[in-house]
Amino acid sequence: MTVAELIRKGTDRLAPPRPADEARPEVELLLAHALGHSRSWLYARPEHRPDGQQAAAYCELVERRAQGVPLEYLTGRAAFHDIELEVTPDVLIPRPETEVLVEEALSFLRGTDCPLMADVGTGSGAVVLALAHALPQLRAVATDVSRAALLVAARNMQALGVTDRVMLVNCDLLSAIGTRFCLVTANLPYVSTEDLEGPAAIVALHEPRVALDGGPRGLQLVRRLLEQLPEHLAPGGLALFEIGSDQGAQAAAMAQSLLPGAEVSVVPDQWRLDRVLRVRMAE
Ligand code: GLN
Repeated sequence: MTVAELIRKGTDRLAPPRPADEARPEVELLLAHALGHSRSWLYARPEHRPDGQQAAAYCELVERRAQGVPLEYLTGRAAFHDIELEVTPDVLIPRPETEVLVEEALSFLRGTDCPLMADVGTGSGAVVLALAHALPQLRAVATDVSRAALLVAARNMQALGVTDRVMLVNCDLLSAIGTRFCLVTANLPYVSTEDLEGPAAIVALHEPRVALDGGPRGLQLVRRLLEQLPEHLAPGGLALFEIGSDQGAQAAAMAQSLLPGAEVSVVPDQWRLDRVLRVRMAE
């Protein structure tokens, strides 16, 4: 079969139930991935005939996509902020809403002299690597409890050429770290265990549960990191946590009661949903 025929066949497999104009670009990415070329390479060669092995690999990818495997796990790539990352099923696929956290961090870092920041629960490294890519002077420590996730983050660090500025540490939150930072960012798991067993079960089907399960009511890890902040944030330092769209009031109340001297607020995303908990320590 030709490239054009393979694309038509793949689109027919995914649509319906998906609309064809949504399925087609995905199918093109899967074919490009199976052939080891770009989408534009395909566009220039609609009559090209991939060999049997390549066509079979492509059909297998389309089939797994039809079963609901996220596209990013099939191609191993995800776009985030201004960078592209490798992703595997050991890490959460970076979400567009996490860019709110990155933008908040960037505006803080651009207005202050911050020699060292920490990113907690770094996963693929999305947050810290987007920041390190945008700010060539930035130095950071990034932690994760999952060794498998850190192996992915390490490859992403290497690909972006920031290995001399970002240090990866395998530990729970900031427990193994004795330093104070001017900025702490954290996209911790915050989906409640109840939701993961009910309405959010679909997310946990393919993505790592350790990156999603925030315990009963979802904010258990956020609470534990808030408790560690007095030891790890410098005076005037800032902590930014991604939170769920309905967790703002609860997270802010928790932060204010654990850190009475801090300035606490919730930053909404573009849909005006709660997205980032902001905790600024007193000077
Ligand atoms: N935003 C993710 C979701 O709803 C959750 C990410 C997280 O727990 N940090 O699927």
